[in-house]
Amino acid sequence: MDIKKRYFDYAATTPMHPEVTKAMQPFLEEKFGNPSSIHSFGQEAKAAITEARDVIAATIKAKSEEIVFTSGGTEADNFVLAGVLEAMAKKGNHIITDTVEHHAILETCRFMEKHRGAKVTYIPVDKTGLVDPQDIKKAITKETVLISVMHANNEIGTIEPIAEIGKIAREAGVYFHTDAVQTFGSLDIDVEKLNVDFLSASAHKLYGPKGIGLLYVRKGARILPLLHGGEQERRRRASTENVPGIVGFSKAVQLAEQERQERNEHLIKMRDKLIKGILDSIEETQLNGHPQLRLPNNVNVTPKYVEGESMLLNLDLEGIAASTGSACSSGSLEPSHVLKAIGINPEIAHSSLRFSLGRLNTDEDVDYLLEVLPRIVKTLREMSPLYKKKK
Ligand SMILES: *Cc1c(COP(=O)(O)O)cnc(C)c1O
Repeated sequence: MDIKKRYFDYAATTPMHPEVTKAMQPFLEEKFGNPSSIHSFGQEAKAAITEARDVIAATIKAKSEEIVFTSGGTEADNFVLAGVLEAMAKKGNHIITDTVEHHAILETCRFMEKHRGAKVTYIPVDKTGLVDPQDIKKAITKETVLISVMHANNEIGTIEPIAEIGKIAREAGVYFHTDAVQTFGSLDIDVEKLNVDFLSASAHKLYGPKGIGLLYVRKGARILPLLHGGEQERRRRASTENVPGIVGFSKAVQLAEQERQERNEHLIKMRDKLIKGILDSIEETQLNGHPQLRLPNNVNVTPKYVEGESMLLNLDLEGIAASTGSACSSGSLEPSHVLKAIGINPEIAHSSLRFSLGRLNTDEDVDYLLEVLPRIVKTLREMSPLYKKKK
């Protein structure tokens, strides 16, 4: 008999909502026009993009012309860093970010340091993963052109004080960007309340399609394009629009808006049951991230003295899909930069697991996981010399 598969990796990606697939279908088939074409095929596609842009803008209290569609979260992050640095070259070349950002921010910052002469300050976080807004304030210089702090962390789920940092940035006259890929659709996002000038999002993290995302660009904020060669997106991003992707993204945003409260209540109940269940049944285990300021769907734990990779393989054999650290860092032997940044000893950082819940998880999935994981950890610990020495 095939074992039932259970997915606990919604922070890596999500399955498309059936209504998203349905909304996209016509744009993959008969409504295939190029939005730049004058004929009716083009007009039909263009109208669909306009409508999708209006819907998405309204849900985050932005203006339609402030939304620039991109190929995903990574492109939005690259776009804002490169585009603001170039547009603001006369003012300076200093960027402030923090040590727990997604690689799409951190590696782009490293690239800008190496190849574009940028100066980057990486603000450390506390042991729950929080950035202190006062640390940001102290790091601002006359040369600072951009501050970038993520809305919530993809590995440990910590939610950062974005509105407060945004206020500091605004008072200092410095642009502020947040990578909201993990919160878009899950938390209530209002670009006015958050005090942001730029914000990144990605559809495939909220039951939309892969390969489509956006950068919110506050009206008047200065940024130069990454892609040249067409008039699309008000000349901010050349290339024929991903029409089915944009339509699907908009549908996913609408569904998230409608179902948010119900989804989150269920997620928080499952999350808290899972955290308590793991901490109660597996000794020498710690929870990583902030106990309260936490994404509704994130569980990140370290059952010490067992390899994360071994736990993942054993969980997979039992039908459970989870992750160590982030999907991007699995496969490498380096412990996650986020766990390092919150001060976890590299030896035990290797023992960390991330379970990220989603709309298709059930209470029964959680019960099953709570039955399977303690057994796997026990078996692996029995083979662990480190654990035996400890006893
Ligand atoms: C997934 C993710 C990204 C990358 O988004 P893609 O659309 O996959 O390129 C960026 N930042 C965070 C926080 C993410 O979780």
